[in-house]
Amino acid sequence: MAVPDHGDGPEPVEQGIAAAAQSSSVHGVTSAKPEPARRRQGIELQDHQTTLKTRVSLSGIGVHSGEAVTVHFNPADAGTGIVFHRIDGLHDGAEVKALHSEIGATDLSTVLGDPAGVHVATVEHLMATVVGLGIDNLAIEIDGAEMPILDGSAAEFVAAFDHVGIETLPVKRRYIRVLKPVRIEAGGSWAEFRPHDGTRFEIEIDFESPAIGRQSIATEMTPDVFRREVSRARTFGFMKDVERLWAAGYALGSSLENSVVIGDDAQIINVGGLRYPDEFVRHKLLDAMGDLALAGSRFIGAFRSYRGGHKLNAAALQRLLSDRTSFELVETARRERGRSAEMIAVNAPYTL
Ligand SMILES: [Zn+2]
Repeated sequence: MAVPDHGDGPEPVEQGIAAAAQSSSVHGVTSAKPEPARRRQGIELQDHQTTLKTRVSLSGIGVHSGEAVTVHFNPADAGTGIVFHRIDGLHDGAEVKALHSEIGATDLSTVLGDPAGVHVATVEHLMATVVGLGIDNLAIEIDGAEMPILDGSAAEFVAAFDHVGIETLPVKRRYIRVLKPVRIEAGGSWAEFRPHDGTRFEIEIDFESPAIGRQSIATEMTPDVFRREVSRARTFGFMKDVERLWAAGYALGSSLENSVVIGDDAQIINVGGLRYPDEFVRHKLLDAMGDLALAGSRFIGAFRSYRGGHKLNAAALQRLLSDRTSFELVETARRERGRSAEMIAVNAPYTL
């Protein structure tokens, strides 16, 4: 039995922010910094919006509700974004957009919509996949209120989307380019955006439990890096927390099938062990990608966090987007033969 993402839950050991901030190169680096040309190419390859080639469906259970749920991912037109449609009879036709402005709760997972009304819970692993693979538009039908947890990672979403393939649409994609540093601190945690030529993540966690300890990952993000290095990292939690969560009506669908569980003796309970030696911090990266995907456009910049979680990710995004001088919307300029594309500012309002 397991608990879902600890979110901002059990406080890890206190360790100075200054100490973390000092180390400019975090340990556990998994991907060398690519050459600038390669980075630009990474952006060029994603000039246009995309959707899926055909419909694909997945079934599973919600990690919190424990209820069976089926989700249909349908292709959608450019400009649609990621939109959920409830088809469970209770809220037929109700629509919930995967946007920052729709965040209803971030306590244990990210909930979109009204937690007491029409909503879709635990969207972060899907959203990480969507942004990780570069899918801009989907009309998602869901016959319940919580996304399936599947194996606790993004692996089954990736497999489903790769199975049907990604379609490029004849409309340019817009990016949010970070123009100046934006930082938020909460207790011993912090998160920040910085200007950067590419999309980069630097995530560090620090847990009292020796099973996790201090782990960090720093990488430029591309679909390939997401597939190989991030998508298979599972949700994790501590055995000691599960009864408290069950008593509160959470984690009802949680099991060793969908979580890495750490026992009271600081041992991994799952028979198969870990998928990556530092699976915990990779899952935190996956969660951060999903939370930041709710900006509605992917960002060009670097995101760094220390002991972060859904709440901190959402707060950092809120701070970035609430100051119109800290970012601009850009798209690729028309490319001249033999020259790499420039990103140009788009004169368009950004509404939260
Ligand atoms: Zn997660």
